[in-house]
Amino acid sequence: MEYVDVIVDISHEKLDHKFQYRVPETLRGKIRIGMQVRFPFGRGNRPTKGYVIGFTDEPDYPPEKIKELTGIVEGSVCAESQLIGLAAWMREQYGSTMNQALKTVLPVKQEVARQRDVTLRLAVPRAQAETFLAEELHKNHHARARLLAALLDADGAISRSEAAERCRVTAPVVRGLERDGILYSETETKYRNPFEGHFQETTERPELTAQQRAAVDGIWTDYERGERRTYLLQGVTGSGKTEVYMELIERVIRQGKQAIVLIPEIALTYQTVRRFYERFGDRVSVLHSRLSDGERYDQFVRAKEGLLDVMIGPRSALFTPFPDLGIIIIDEEHEGAYKSETVPRYDAREAAIYRASSCGASVVLGSATPSLESSYRAREGTYGWYRLDSRIGAAVLPAVHIVDLRKELKEGNRSIFSRRLTDALGERLRRGEQTMLFLNRRGFSGFVSCRSCGEALRCPHCDVSLSLHIDGYLKCHYCGYEMRMPKACPSCGSPYISGFRAGTQQIEREVKRLFPSARVLRMDYDTTRSKESYEKILSAFGRGEADVLVGTQMIVKGHDFPNVTLVGVVAADISLHAPDYRAAERTFALLTQAVGRAGRAQKPGEALIQTYRPEHYSIRAAAKQDYDAFYVQELSYRRLMGYPPIQEMLGIYLSSTEQEFLRQSSEKLGAYIRTLDASLQVIGPAIAALAKKNDIYRMVIYIKHERKERLLEVKRQLESRIEKEAFADRVRVQFDYNPQQSY
Ligand code: ADP
Ligand code: ZN
Ligand code: ZN
Repeated sequence: MEYVDVIVDISHEKLDHKFQYRVPETLRGKIRIGMQVRFPFGRGNRPTKGYVIGFTDEPDYPPEKIKELTGIVEGSVCAESQLIGLAAWMREQYGSTMNQALKTVLPVKQEVARQRDVTLRLAVPRAQAETFLAEELHKNHHARARLLAALLDADGAISRSEAAERCRVTAPVVRGLERDGILYSETETKYRNPFEGHFQETTERPELTAQQRAAVDGIWTDYERGERRTYLLQGVTGSGKTEVYMELIERVIRQGKQAIVLIPEIALTYQTVRRFYERFGDRVSVLHSRLSDGERYDQFVRAKEGLLDVMIGPRSALFTPFPDLGIIIIDEEHEGAYKSETVPRYDAREAAIYRASSCGASVVLGSATPSLESSYRAREGTYGWYRLDSRIGAAVLPAVHIVDLRKELKEGNRSIFSRRLTDALGERLRRGEQTMLFLNRRGFSGFVSCRSCGEALRCPHCDVSLSLHIDGYLKCHYCGYEMRMPKACPSCGSPYISGFRAGTQQIEREVKRLFPSARVLRMDYDTTRSKESYEKILSAFGRGEADVLVGTQMIVKGHDFPNVTLVGVVAADISLHAPDYRAAERTFALLTQAVGRAGRAQKPGEALIQTYRPEHYSIRAAAKQDYDAFYVQELSYRRLMGYPPIQEMLGIYLSSTEQEFLRQSSEKLGAYIRTLDASLQVIGPAIAALAKKNDIYRMVIYIKHERKERLLEVKRQLESRIEKEAFADRVRVQFDYNPQQSY
């Protein structure tokens, strides 16, 4: 490679300004992406430093106009270099431009005014200041005199804010004394610390249980031997995972290194941060979208300048520019939120493992219900694997019952509440205890199911649920298969087939109809649109201001409510029939979490799971909180159908404002991929789950193969082919590797 692209300044607005340089013979083969290099810059050929972001053999300018690099900046690889390397890797893996990838990993530079501490200091010896004071008094310059007196009082230095408040002096007075050379002001930049003064550091450490110790010792033995790996820490909520994370982090910090802790949602930040703060003091910070731009930028700077040891935050906190990262923790690793849904569609777990491997850090993935991928790798031995099998203390699991809604229907109950759930709810209201009613609508997309036998209509080729479209057809969003909406259930002949319509509002209404005096709070997308409403609803419920909390999956996370003794899952089938291969996995995780909400404290809890599919393995396993049973069944489904982690999958998302043109182009692309390689399994094109968004039509093609490398090669081939295609400027193409949600 004869030429390199470099950027001079690392800030979003400057990323588009890249410059090309020739690599001199002496440096050929030594340059890597992310390296800091030296070159002459601008008209005056000023010696300048910048970062390499790409290579090429075909320069964009006449070769005689291109200058040469002068050298490589020696010394340790800095945080920026690592992040630029990570961006290059993400570009390659997930498909995006280098610019999009760089914008994802580098912070926006904020020239917003810093909070500054200004100190006023005497510029003259004490005796002289006293003389000045006498003169000022004599001239009736009271403000000047007050300030001088205060300065003399305070040994020659006071803060400007104090001067303003206590001595009531204005800025012109200060400037006047400055001009006369009597005082000077000293400015210290202060970084905004979003948690300053919120928490107290403690030195208390619990004695670790045998299983906690085994995990810490095992991981730490590897670490001290110089072996950096990825570990799965599998343990139910409350089994002490966070304590294990903190112990490992403490050891990493003792070696002068830093830690990143990823959590799935902002809503969980506060309680996590509190515990980390209590342990590590104000060398802990957070990065999330609710910070102001200035606050966010300051956290990046604090991290870079060595003022922090631990950064906590959602997905993007992975890009904290720590100079010497030692460990990355990913809590609740199974959560879909770790996958980005914008280009580059990166998976923070994979990106974390890549970043860790390039800077010598370890990765710990923690979960009560690990993703199939992580479990698979732990069982294969690719990841280290530790388990915490029981909760700390005496908290017991609730009694769980599965309620068969088919029987309810057969016995004449057409309500969305089974008799058992109605009775249990009534009982809680009488006893003054609280109930959570949970509607797991995540991934909901208009499935059709039979209320007599519980079967949903599924694609015969892909074994995922079909979705009902307004044209009256049921469609598969993987392969494009479609069928007319039948009049009767294909499995049992029952006429009771229909889409599922109940939402949180209907449930709220039904509770009020059954129990008019019950106080009900509802939490869903509608009621939590403003920033604080999420917290407000939860804390109102926590204070006992309502008897029943109705909500979507949001309510099962975070807060502990000691007075909740009943959790009702209104229709477990909703997430089970999401139109993608992860439906059962998501259902198992959601139900396990929901069940775990009942009876956290002294009072025994009960959980009721209503469903038309009581025999489904994800529901039965969740009721027993039996991860292993679920894993075995789910893996055999993945194996049978060739879904991840058995096979790797690449989604190709096509979108255009021209519907017919999009269909033709998608067909053409699908046909082309089919000519590439007989070992590739090509599925589709099909209409996307979200067929049209903002007047843009969407279609998908999926490709499956056993080896990820093969899929990445195909992606590269497609990227260069699409560039040359006639449709390139009318159809947008994006890639999604092992998709989490249907497009
Ligand atoms: P998880 O992260 O798995 O949900 P936590 O680490 O939050 O579990 O632990 C649950 C609770 O048990 C916390 O209140 C924690 O302080 C406490 N805890 C954890 N480990 C121990 C221990 N070894 N001894 C006593 N209490 C512990
Ligand atoms: Zn049926
Ligand atoms: Zn299909």
